Amino acid sequence: MRILVVEDESQLAGHIVRALTRRNHTAESRADGAEGLRAALTSPPDLIVLDLGLPGLDGLTVLARLRAPACPARVLILTARGEVGHRVKGLEAGADDSLAKPFAMEELVARVEALGRRGATPTAADLLKAGDLVMDILHRRVSRAGQPIALSPREFDVLQVLLQEPGRVFSRTELCERVWQRDHEYDTRTVEIFITRLRKKIEVGGAVPLIHTIRSVGYTLRPPEAPSAVGPTAGRSSPL
Ligand code: CA
Repeated sequence: MRILVVEDESQLAGHIVRALTRRNHTAESRADGAEGLRAALTSPPDLIVLDLGLPGLDGLTVLARLRAPACPARVLILTARGEVGHRVKGLEAGADDSLAKPFAMEELVARVEALGRRGATPTAADLLKAGDLVMDILHRRVSRAGQPIALSPREFDVLQVLLQEPGRVFSRTELCERVWQRDHEYDTRTVEIFITRLRKKIEVGGAVPLIHTIRSVGYTLRPPEAPSAVGPTAGRSSPL
């Protein structure tokens, strides 16, 4: 794998690079967040080992900026001891795994290689589709007509519930319970806000609507009808 290590402790970065190189990976390191981000976006590696405590841009910001243009690299974050909150925030922001410092180098290598085995290509079971909308559950990515769509973790969760059972109507309360679970800081109005945000993101540019409101009941997601051979656009040549 091609691995980018973003770690400001130069000695540790050197140890990690050498340990990964010994396992026949190609590894290079960057010592601050801005440089790491630039390297990751210029030439996306397969995997990034990302320290959260970095000078300049901190790791969480780097992660958010990586995920916004849907950088495909898997990310293992390194967190300082006892920073449970950071770990959770990192995973919510799209990291694939985390490791707390200090760690044994064997453990880091094992985690990196386990993430590698998860593969860059998800299997059919990891993909949910409705028309040209595709959700990759494994890497928590969504695209429509091949264009990546950046969703917040909650937006992703709402869409996942709808996509798992296309055509089924969910009441606002049921969606709340499925997505927010025990978190009581929600009401059905929250669901409406999330649905509106999702529509803005997945139905841009005149794309066929997928999420439908069922009046006084809730919402459903339906794939667009398959184009019929005798449909109005069949056989028509485009003026463009
Ligand atoms: Ca650090």
